[in-house]
Amino acid sequence: MHAPAQASLDDVARHLDTVLRTSEVPDYPGAMNGVQVEHDGPVMRCAVAVDASLQTIQGAIDADANLLIVHHGLFWAGAQPLRGRVYHRFHRLIANDIAVYSSHLPLDLHPTFGNNALLARALGLDPLEGFARFQSIMVGVMGNSDIDTATLADRADAIAREEGGTLVSVGVSPGRRTRRWAICTGAGASSDTLREAAAAGVDTLIVGEGAHHTGVEAPELGIAVLYAGHYATETFGVRALGAELEREFDLPWTFIAAPTGL
Ligand SMILES: [Zn+2]
Repeated sequence: MHAPAQASLDDVARHLDTVLRTSEVPDYPGAMNGVQVEHDGPVMRCAVAVDASLQTIQGAIDADANLLIVHHGLFWAGAQPLRGRVYHRFHRLIANDIAVYSSHLPLDLHPTFGNNALLARALGLDPLEGFARFQSIMVGVMGNSDIDTATLADRADAIAREEGGTLVSVGVSPGRRTRRWAICTGAGASSDTLREAAAAGVDTLIVGEGAHHTGVEAPELGIAVLYAGHYATETFGVRALGAELEREFDLPWTFIAAPTGL
């Protein structure tokens, strides 16, 4: 018999902050990277999810987890009264002694645990350099290949479908080859990333989602865009953190699926 693993929230957070370089990576103010909600603890089991929501909080409760690790935290909407659904989120967390740790851009860009690097590998692509500048950092990845764009689209579609979504694509014609690609998970297609892709000679951009106009402009620039879903492209990082905490602290973990199909 051996005692169930446990770790203090401070130790877990210190490890994640070190690995993810939380204090060095710039982000949007609403991201609030790091511990967002404390608990009495200690951490006995982790739940990992893309979003902090009533659904994933309930998932953590059902999984008997007392640390919820997310990519999109509780504070995106800025300061607001703890009323209605917002109150219920915090009430359920505190009533069940569940802490929340969130990591947005530090997790997106991490070379080992990051959404972008892991999506590239899942697509059979080798990241060579950074893509999608945000302030002082590159959020996404870029590289070279020689692959049928339709084959890449099929792989992206399989990833999307596994997470309850489906691939949307523009500019994928029969016989077209992808020789230079870029990835920016989540809301990765924008006027900025299209401009950056065109300047870098990228012929295929792989993202989660993007505004309608990106689907109009990309083919004019000779760029195919694969929209594999915001949710689906950001399931990789939190899973990798669950596995990392199991490796480091022997903590069991559960992925809480809450697909939006978007
Ligand atoms: Zn996102």
